[in-house]
This record gives sequence, C-alpha cells and structure tokens, in this order.
Amino acid sequence: MLLRLRASLSDSERHSILKLCKDLGYSPKFLGRAESLLELEGPGGPGDRSQFEDHTCVVQVIEMSESCELTARPSQGEDTVVTVGQARFGGGWASLIAGPCAVENIDRLLTIAGSVRDAGATILRGGAYKPRTSPYSFRGLGVDALDYLATAREKTGLPIVSEVLDPRDVEAVGERVDMFQIGSRNMSNASLLDEVGRTTTPVLLKRGMASTVREFLLAAEYVLAAGNPNVILCERGVRGFDNVTRNLLDVGAIAFLKERTHLPVIADPSHAAGRADLVAPIARAGIAAGADGLIIEVHNAPEEARSDGPQALSIDEFKRLAADVRTLLAMDGRRLSGDASADSKHSSDSDSNRGDSTRPESLEVKHHA
Ligand code: PEP
Ligand code: MN
Repeated sequence: MLLRLRASLSDSERHSILKLCKDLGYSPKFLGRAESLLELEGPGGPGDRSQFEDHTCVVQVIEMSESCELTARPSQGEDTVVTVGQARFGGGWASLIAGPCAVENIDRLLTIAGSVRDAGATILRGGAYKPRTSPYSFRGLGVDALDYLATAREKTGLPIVSEVLDPRDVEAVGERVDMFQIGSRNMSNASLLDEVGRTTTPVLLKRGMASTVREFLLAAEYVLAAGNPNVILCERGVRGFDNVTRNLLDVGAIAFLKERTHLPVIADPSHAAGRADLVAPIARAGIAAGADGLIIEVHNAPEEARSDGPQALSIDEFKRLAADVRTLLAMDGRRLSGDASADSKHSSDSDSNRGDSTRPESLEVKHHA
C-alpha cells in the first residue's frame, strides 16, 4: 500500500501518521527525499484503509495492485499546487513562463529576462542543452548557459527552468535550476524520469510529440513513484498530418487532464504553432481549456535567434498575450501569479503548498538595445 501525504507536514503530524502505520503492524518507508509518499509493508487488516483515509495527513491511499495511479485525482480531490518562487500552478492559480528557446549570450538573456518579468512572467525559461532534430544545429551553450541563467535569476529574482537531457547531468543541472524541464523527445526516458524523481526539484514534463495521454500520465507516474510530487504536465502539441502548424495543440487533452489528474497542466503554444503569428490564439485556447499556465518562447530579436526564431514572440507581443491571459483567467475566476492584487489576496489564503520567495524590490537588469 502507498500513502500520498499532504505537502509540508509538521514534525508532530509526521510522527502521528508513522505511529498509526506502526500501530497497525506496518513498516513504513518514505520514498524519495520529498517525503510525500509512504510505502507500507506488512500484512495489514481489512479496516486499515479507512483509518488511513480518515487521517488528516493522508491525501490518497493507493493499493499497489491499482497500477499505482499516483497521478489520478482522487474523487473530489483537490488540485496539487506546484510552487516555484512566486509562480503557482494549479488550485486556481496560473503562471507564465517565458524566455528564449536557447540561451545565446548573457546580455541578450538579461534583456529578455527583465522584459518578460515586467510583462508578468514569474519564471524564466532558457535552453542550455538543446535536443535538436539535426545534430548540426546549435545545441546550446551547456554549463555556461546555466551560469548565465543563474546570473539572470540573481538580477531579476525570476526562478529558472531549463531542460535536462541526460540522467548523468541531473545533479549538475539540479544545482542551478529551480525546475527541470523534461522535453518531448525524452518524455519516455525511464532513467531520466527516475533520476529527477529522486530529487525534490519541480519537474516540467512535456508530452511526447507522438505519445498518448495515458503514456504521458504514466511518464509522470514514474517521477511521482520515485518520490517527487512536484510535477507540472505540459501539452506542447502532437504530430499531425498538416504542416500549417508545427504540431497540433491538443486542447481536448488539457481539458481531460484537468479532470483526470490532480497535477497542474500548462500549455506550450510556441512549439505547437511553430510560427509567431499563431502563438497568441493557440495560447488563449489552452487557457480557455483550463491550462494552469503557459510556457512561451520570447526573444528581443526573433530574426536573430539561434533556435526556434520563427515561433518566438517579440517582447511587445508577449506583453499583449499576458494581458489577454489575465482577462481570460478573470472570466474563469482564476488568478495570475505575480500580479500584485492577486498575490496580496493569496497571502491571506491558507494554501499549505506555497513557496516563500519574494520578488526583489529594485530592478537591476540592464536593458541592452
Ligand atoms: C523547448 O522547450 O525548447 C523544446 C525543445 O521543447 P519540446 O521538448 O516540447 O520540443
Ligand atoms: Mn524551442
């Protein structure tokens, strides 16, 4: 049996659930460093399940024989809220992640980072290791890019997300990023999923471009089963038969996932569209279908971008999209993280899964022409 526990238990709550397990004759063992999953071994008894279900620390009781559906939303279960700095995903909160496809140099990164933050993004994206279709394309600046991202975080206060391609890089990348990105091409890389699952760093898991929704959920299941509860699912479009857009954003999958899983779900309209003119309408469709946020490629000079330039929004286009997202969320009774009024309302909420980092008061970013 597995117990999925509430986030941030106090010592006495942890003690109380462990005591109940032992009193019922089980040997409990936490899976992973996040300590949100308790594996129970022992013969057990018929009434145990309901005793666990009644315990305030327990979110879900899972029988191992149920194919371990850790991603499933328990009946009337709440959303899991994943928090990265000021950004919150799920539970009525949406957030914008924005930045270049690939980190190209420090000056450009700082310019883009400052601008997307001012427009309402609460996480900076930027590829350091790029999984390009052709081995001859620009494959990223590697560890130098991670250092530039860390500088951008220092100067803007924005947490960073960057893709990890190889299980051997998980430790080094994890020391520098606030959230791992697992790309579409790696969604079913079991060793990579296991490795990020052993950490407590949030994981942005993108849907494989030819993966079913069930395969997508099972990929998330790997991360959860390894002990990391902080997973955000990202629908980024699947392969279609037409080349008008690069991929097809599966809005049906977003709506379905919001029902089927407690995990947050965001949309990536940039890789779905493959062209800047269609990014905003596709993004709005994703939010309307229930997405808890967006990841958007933004560049201060899209025509000069070394990777995915045709789909990059300019800074002004991103600002306009952010305004549209606020309007759509408000219509739906939801809120955008990072907005002053929304955040002050939030501070009076009793959301236990909330991060505590705050946006710095002074903006030290140098804007380069
Ligand atoms: C990216 O975010 O730049 C990227 C490569 O995305 P995907 O894995 O969805 O293709
Ligand atoms: Mn890209």
